Order: sequence, then structure tokens, then C-alpha cells
Amino acid sequence: MPQSIRSQAYVGGEWCDGAQGRRYPVVDPATGSEIATVPDMDDDDATRSIKEASAAFESWSETSPKVRATLLHDWSRLILENRDRLARLIVLEQGKPLGQALGEVTYGTTFIDWYAEEGRRVYGDTIKANDTRQRIVVTKEAIGVCAAITPWNYPLAMVTRKIAPALAAGCTVVVKPSESTPLSALALAELADQAEFPAGVLNVVTTNHPAQVGATFTRSNLVRHLSFTGSVEVGQILLRDASRTIKKCTMELGGNAPFIVFADADLARAVDALMASKFRNSGQTCVCPNRVFVERSIYPEFLSRVLDRVIRLKIGNGFDDEVDIGPLIDGEAVAKVERHIEDAVDRGGSVHIGGGQYGSTGTFFLPTVITGINPDMDLAREETFGPVVAMMAFDEEDDVVSLANATPYGLAAYLFTCDYERVIRVSERLQFGIVGVNETAVSNEIAPFGGIKSSGLGREGSRYGIEEYLEMKYVCFGLSR
Ligand code: ADP
Repeated sequence: MPQSIRSQAYVGGEWCDGAQGRRYPVVDPATGSEIATVPDMDDDDATRSIKEASAAFESWSETSPKVRATLLHDWSRLILENRDRLARLIVLEQGKPLGQALGEVTYGTTFIDWYAEEGRRVYGDTIKANDTRQRIVVTKEAIGVCAAITPWNYPLAMVTRKIAPALAAGCTVVVKPSESTPLSALALAELADQAEFPAGVLNVVTTNHPAQVGATFTRSNLVRHLSFTGSVEVGQILLRDASRTIKKCTMELGGNAPFIVFADADLARAVDALMASKFRNSGQTCVCPNRVFVERSIYPEFLSRVLDRVIRLKIGNGFDDEVDIGPLIDGEAVAKVERHIEDAVDRGGSVHIGGGQYGSTGTFFLPTVITGINPDMDLAREETFGPVVAMMAFDEEDDVVSLANATPYGLAAYLFTCDYERVIRVSERLQFGIVGVNETAVSNEIAPFGGIKSSGLGREGSRYGIEEYLEMKYVCFGLSR
């Protein structure tokens, strides 16, 4: 294990093991080898960390926003100073190519810097009362202890995206990173410790028993906000359980993004955008195009351009030079992609390139292009989360809008066309929280990221993101005359 890897949990400002002393291994998906072991914490450990966060809440919430901003900026600066080390850790535990991991570290800090400033711009209202003997003042206050359950696909940035607004708002946090990728979250805690955040403000609980720790969060009355990124199934469990203690929840539950290319689109631009967004992180992002709809007259040309690009993609260990595609996170992820391809082929789809695993070690999957998909196929109904371009032709604008919307998900959608009236018509009719027009780079700290329908509740990023962590209070002052 490299010396610089933190392998204990971080609770109440101390590095610690679980009360039971159990540990579990973290594995490099590119090689299958163990990188480190971390504490396999349980409900007692989670309860203790909630108590630590609760004990720290009073003074943190009363700390001036300017002081909190300074600490957040210090933390961000330390993260950037350690960018190379953190990026290497991301490659080790998650597998993405080093260039993308470096990008993730920078992207992760943008949320910290943005919310350091947004925390200083939390405004209230005064409202003219009906009764002249009353004064009405509305304030926004930190909601309390926040629990964050984060996924493995962006093990660093999904942590900062959740906790930066919480900390800036004056909340204290307990983070439970994905069991597959806890090391980046621990490294972030180490740098927060160096930045001298007060003990208990940020806690990281590692576990291989996510359901147990998740249930401790939802059951706790001290936890006033739960933020989750992951599958709809787990989101439903958490929402159901959180209802017992009526807590505010932010849910990012994945997508099934349509990518629509009209015949009048700038084809080169559409192909570039598809390649960048589909194969980023080996297709393991919740905004990556899952269904590609191409107008029939340009379908052969579009397919041939995509194939020409896919054939040149380099697959391999994220540390190797010029690698475009790293491994999938684990065997289960590979099995899901295989199931989707098998189902599509059984129902008449054609694989043009790829279609199977790559190499004898790790969990690599070949970049794949499959055509002739239809809405009944698993890969059109579910998020594939792998390097698979699934394409079908369409004839009419109305048809493609209906097809695009025919999913319970509603996170991101993309359309490519040069007809501005169509841009307005189609973007208004797409039932998604994010619409990219001739653009797929939609995720940043200044815009509200989030979905509608089964894709979730609430927004991350932008001035709206901090609202999730604030509670409104209305004070009515009565005067005697
Ligand atoms: P994925 O299938 O992409 O791994 P999950 O929804 O299973 O998505 O995981 C996302 C996050 O949710 C991870 O941190 C994981 O540990 C956590 N998780 C999984 N099951 C539960 C559960 N029952 N309760 C709370 N968290 C869970």
C-alpha cells in the first residue's frame, strides 16, 4: 500500500477504526489487486459520527460565513496542491484514465470555491405585514447535521459537490463514500484536517455494509438532511426510511439520456460531442447518452463517422499513456453491459464493433456500437453504464420527442440541430432537468444539476444547490401599537 493512502475512517477530528475492528479490501478494477483495507464500520460507528457532527453543529453554524469561506478556500487550495496524488488515487480505486482523474480533482474544487462564496450570499426577506403592528422577517438557517451517501463513479467530485454547499451553509456532515471507492473521500478528509476545519464538522465513515449505515442515517432524528447519488432502487429505500423522521432529501438517481441528431445538425460537432460524453469514464456517468436517435437520412453517414472514431479508442489501465477507456468498476457492471447487449441482439439489434470484455485481468469492456435498437430493449429502458453507443433511426420530430420522453428517468437530454425554432420546440418538450443544445458539457458548479421524474429530487451546484441545506424561518414581531 502506498504510504500516502489514508486507511482509517475520520470521525470527530480523529483517525479511527470501527468499534468492531473489522476491515475490508479496496480493489483496483484494472488489475483486481488489493490497494488497501479500510474500516468496515457498522451502525454504532455511524451513530457515533452523527453525534460528533451534532456536537460540532452549534459552533460551526454560528461561525461567520466569511470564516467558513476562508477555510473552504484553504481546503480547495490544498486539494489543488495535491492534485496529482489525488488523481492517481482516483485512477487506482476507480479506474478512469489519469487525464480524466486530474480533471475530476479540478472539477471537485470548483464546488468548494463556488460555495465558499455562495455561503456569504444567503439572503432573507422582509415582508410588509397586513397588520401595521407586525413586522415580518424571513431568515435562512443551516438545516443541521447532513448525511451524504456518494457513488463510486466520481469518488472525489461527488463528495465535494455534496458537502461544500452543506459546510458553507453552516451544516456539519457525515459522508459515507461508496464501498468500492472510499480512499478519495479519506484523502479529502485528510486535507480538510490540514486546513483546520474544527473537529466533527466533516466525518467520513467507511463501510462494506451500506444498508446498515444508510438505515442509521435515515433513522436518526439528529440527521436533518440526506443527500444521495446512486440507483433508483436505493434512493427509494432511503426516501421511504427517511419518511419516518421527516428529513429533507436530495436525490440524484441516474438517467437514461436521449441524444437526438437531426439531419440539419453540424455532424462533426455532434460526433465529437457523442464521443466525449458517451465514453467519458467508460460510459459510467449518469448524464452520458444512453439512447442515440439519428434522423434516417443521415443515419448511415453518422454511423460510419462514429465507427471511424470508436475503432481508434485506446483501452487499458488508466495510468498508461493516451488511454481513452479504463475498466468498468466491477464484475457486476460488466455483467449488466453484457446482459444489455445480449438482450438487444436477441431482439434484432446488430453489434458493429466491440460487444464483449477485453483482456484477461480487470473488468475492461470494449467500446461498442450497436444499431437497430428499439424501446423495448433493456439498453433502451435502463441505464447501461458502460461504453456502448445504442443507436436507432427516426423519421419525425414528434416521434423522436415521444421516444426520448418514454422513460421514467428525466436527468439529461441532448439535441443537435441548426434550426433555432426546432431548438425551442424540442427543448421545451423534453421532460428532463438538463437539456444540452449542440452541447454535452453540461455539468459545472454554476448551473443547477438535477433531474425530474425518477431521476431525483433537488439540485446540486448553482445558487439553488445551497438552498437544499437551508431551512427557512419566519419571525413575526408584534408591536403594542
Ligand atoms: P451503484 O449500483 O451505481 O453502485 P448504488 O445505489 O448501489 O449504485 O450505490 C450508490 C451508493 O449507495 C454507494 O455509496 C452505496 O454504498 C450506497 N448504498 C447501496 N445500498 C444502500 C442502502 N441500502 N442504503 C444506503 N446506501 C446504500
